[in-house]
Amino acid sequence: MSRLTEKPAHAGLPSIDLERSARPKRDLLGLSRDDLRALLTEIGEPAYRGAQIYHALYVERRFDFSAMSNLPAALQERLACEFHVSIPEIGQRFHSNDGSVRYLLNLADPIGAEQARRSAARVEAVFMPSEGRQTICISTQAGCAVDCHFCLTAQLGLVRNLTAGEMLAQVLIALEDHRESPAPRTNVVLMGQGEPLLNYEPVMAALRIMLDPNGMGLAARHVTLSTSGIVPGIERLAQEKIRPKLAISLNASTDEERDAIMPINRKYPLEALIATCRKYPLRPREQLTFEYVLLGGFNDSPDDARRVARLIAGIRAKVNVIPWNPGELPYRPPTAERIREFRDVLAAKDVPVFVRYSRGQDVSAACGQLALREAGSVVSTIASAPPAALPA
Ligand code: SF4
Repeated sequence: MSRLTEKPAHAGLPSIDLERSARPKRDLLGLSRDDLRALLTEIGEPAYRGAQIYHALYVERRFDFSAMSNLPAALQERLACEFHVSIPEIGQRFHSNDGSVRYLLNLADPIGAEQARRSAARVEAVFMPSEGRQTICISTQAGCAVDCHFCLTAQLGLVRNLTAGEMLAQVLIALEDHRESPAPRTNVVLMGQGEPLLNYEPVMAALRIMLDPNGMGLAARHVTLSTSGIVPGIERLAQEKIRPKLAISLNASTDEERDAIMPINRKYPLEALIATCRKYPLRPREQLTFEYVLLGGFNDSPDDARRVARLIAGIRAKVNVIPWNPGELPYRPPTAERIREFRDVLAAKDVPVFVRYSRGQDVSAACGQLALREAGSVVSTIASAPPAALPA
């Protein structure tokens, strides 16, 4: 059975330290193995105890020091007095008919000086099971400043950046919640609320733990970061030794079109974005993914498809076409014929192309939708609409 429950039953969970002592406790979630080793040395304990805590957190998923059976009881007690492991409260779970589970997570209020710059926020994470694997979609920011016009998260504006621990916690919560029925493979996609490359350092800190064989142990080919096209961020990511797969939220075939739905294109226009993609150092068998939300009557013509094929010619890449779902935003879904034509034009140009449909639409699948409702910013009649890159 899951060791995580929704509020308010959370208060009784042994896995979550809710004690608010006068002295601020440092959050250990999100610290690297080396940081934990250094921290333990700093407090006069052997460095290897830090590595044991890291193992307990990310391999065994133990969030309560008293459950870290690889530590002596005296150290468990000391850690509980001086530190904590901050797992966000599950505000609500939404179970979809397609098996996916959407979590609305309440991020912590500020606790003490160390977290003074944090503020309470809500984000969403989604667990999507499929044959032989589970995919977990996580948020990297609460809200988003990028303002893509087809995205509900944009309506929140940027609330705040998430910490590395808050990103890792989304994966840990989803895995822990399905502890009884794990699929052999876990994919993680950074496609929830936020633009990951505008919260670069915490995102990379979280990714290094996800991809660390001694940490979560996920394969780089099973973790995908999706960006709206932040060129300096892509260039920086290209320099990283450890990095996930990269997806670009393209959504248009001309600057004029892209400017109209993604204001970020005025800063990083298609020419600069595609030039950066051409230089991106792909590993053997790796390919870029271009996400393309197909908006009926706007960017879904065969000419658009031809221009997309020309734009990305020579780049080792695939295109995920995501038909728009009906919603209150001022767009309409493409017809089945347009979807087919778009796909066929790309396929005829030898571009690997896949049509993806958002999952969990009966439980507010669009990223930002739940948080917007909670914030009271939209009325409950708002219907589902796909994010730029909701994975299929
Ligand atoms: Fe931000 Fe992504 Fe939404 Fe664009 S699609 S506003 S980058 S969350």
